[in-house]
Amino acid sequence: MTEPLLCDLSAPGRVAMRFPEPDVPLAELPSLLREDLPLPELSEVDVVRHFTRLSKLNYSIDQGMYPLGSCTMKYNPKINEAMARLPGFALTHPLQPIETVQGNLLLMYELQEWLAEIGGFAGVTLQPAAGAQGELTGVLIIRVYHDARQDFKRTKILIPDSAHGTNPATSAMSGMQVVELKSDERGNVNLEALKSHCDETLAGLMLTNPNTLGLFDENVIEVCRLVHETGGLIYGDGANMNALLGVVRPGELGIDVMHYNLHKTFSTPHGGGGPGSGPVGVAAHLVDFLPYPVVDIIEEGDEELPPLFGLVRPKQSIGRVKSFHGQFGMMVRAYTYLRMHGPEGLRMIAEHAVLNANYLMHLLKGHYHLPYDRICMHEFVVEGQWDDAPDIHALDISKRMMDYNLHPPTNYFPLIVHEALMIEPTETESKQTLDRFVEVMLEIAREAHETPEVLKSAPHITPVGRLDEVKAAKELVLCCGVGSPSD
Ligand SMILES: *Cc1c(COP(=O)(O)O)cnc(C)c1O
Repeated sequence: MTEPLLCDLSAPGRVAMRFPEPDVPLAELPSLLREDLPLPELSEVDVVRHFTRLSKLNYSIDQGMYPLGSCTMKYNPKINEAMARLPGFALTHPLQPIETVQGNLLLMYELQEWLAEIGGFAGVTLQPAAGAQGELTGVLIIRVYHDARQDFKRTKILIPDSAHGTNPATSAMSGMQVVELKSDERGNVNLEALKSHCDETLAGLMLTNPNTLGLFDENVIEVCRLVHETGGLIYGDGANMNALLGVVRPGELGIDVMHYNLHKTFSTPHGGGGPGSGPVGVAAHLVDFLPYPVVDIIEEGDEELPPLFGLVRPKQSIGRVKSFHGQFGMMVRAYTYLRMHGPEGLRMIAEHAVLNANYLMHLLKGHYHLPYDRICMHEFVVEGQWDDAPDIHALDISKRMMDYNLHPPTNYFPLIVHEALMIEPTETESKQTLDRFVEVMLEIAREAHETPEVLKSAPHITPVGRLDEVKAAKELVLCCGVGSPSD
């Protein structure tokens, strides 16, 4: 049955709401609506059913496993939402006098402190609104650090070929020259390639560790040493912190500046469910460059009075990177998550995330080609193609997974793996769920060899089949009367 369009349900005079009798004289309004706008007229039940039907077409973490590598799609605990909705948090305004928002500032202060503790850093800004904006903030800090030392030649940023696309993008936006660094056959930074780029133009290196292959870089200490010796700084892409929580402090490995993704590691929702948040931690020599404002104690307390928190400007601040103070609601959610787990719980998150990934990798190995065959961290990458089923691509496998009510993994990233399928189960999936995932993946591998056309024509149970994704993004059809669903 095809879904009815809202305009088909429309009937003149149908309305979904009733206004109370006006208690003021009616005034003529200028006509604000376009005369030809074909707005459907609908009853309340039509509207509710329409949006409920749409919501059921969606897939979410509340519905099933979401093994989207690099994204850490863990379950978002509902208590986070309850806390963020407390009126004392939800109804405050960023321009309120600080005396009236001491609770909010205390929460931000403690979150800064805890993130610094977890990452091994001296200072943290909560301002950036996403990992990518954290990267931009961090690279700008690196740039200003060199400038402040009158070291203007340093304009080169090294980025491994396994890196997320945001790394070269933010470096280029910061006015840096991006140089790609090859990985070695074990998936680590290639030390020989690194040495050949170590000169007086080196501003820094962006390192994702564990990297996007899900592998802990075995050369990380040496990489940091080589870059520091040359006068450069290390930017840590902290998107994969879920593998390290409570186990490794990146600051102690030699990372100078790193972003955290609250929407990955610290259980705040991704994308449509809420804005992102990408706080940045820095080592002591970069604290003065942090964006303005950071939360600090501006008046020590005593036996009678608690300390007074305020917003301060670091001495050589790069300035603001976002209006007001960042995504406060996300800070409340991450704070709740941290308090719920405590230090022991955080370490268990990392341990279980790594255990779950290795469990899946072990069971899939032999059925899917594993290009980097060594113990993984919180995720791993397999190839979505077989020598004896060469017509099948990673995309066919992913589309077929939808028929089994599973969200596909990340496809075609990292770029250095042929037909990449990047799988990250996270710690919040049970053994039963992981076992079912494996069962489906093995069934699909069998189908790929025996009935490949089933994969080629998948998905079969979704309202639409394979879309021209480029066309769909460029030529959105959002309302009825413009185009038709068959276009
Ligand atoms: C997700 C991710 C980013 C970017 O973070 P956003 O919050 O999506 O902007 C950067 N690097 C890696 C490795 C990531 O997985």
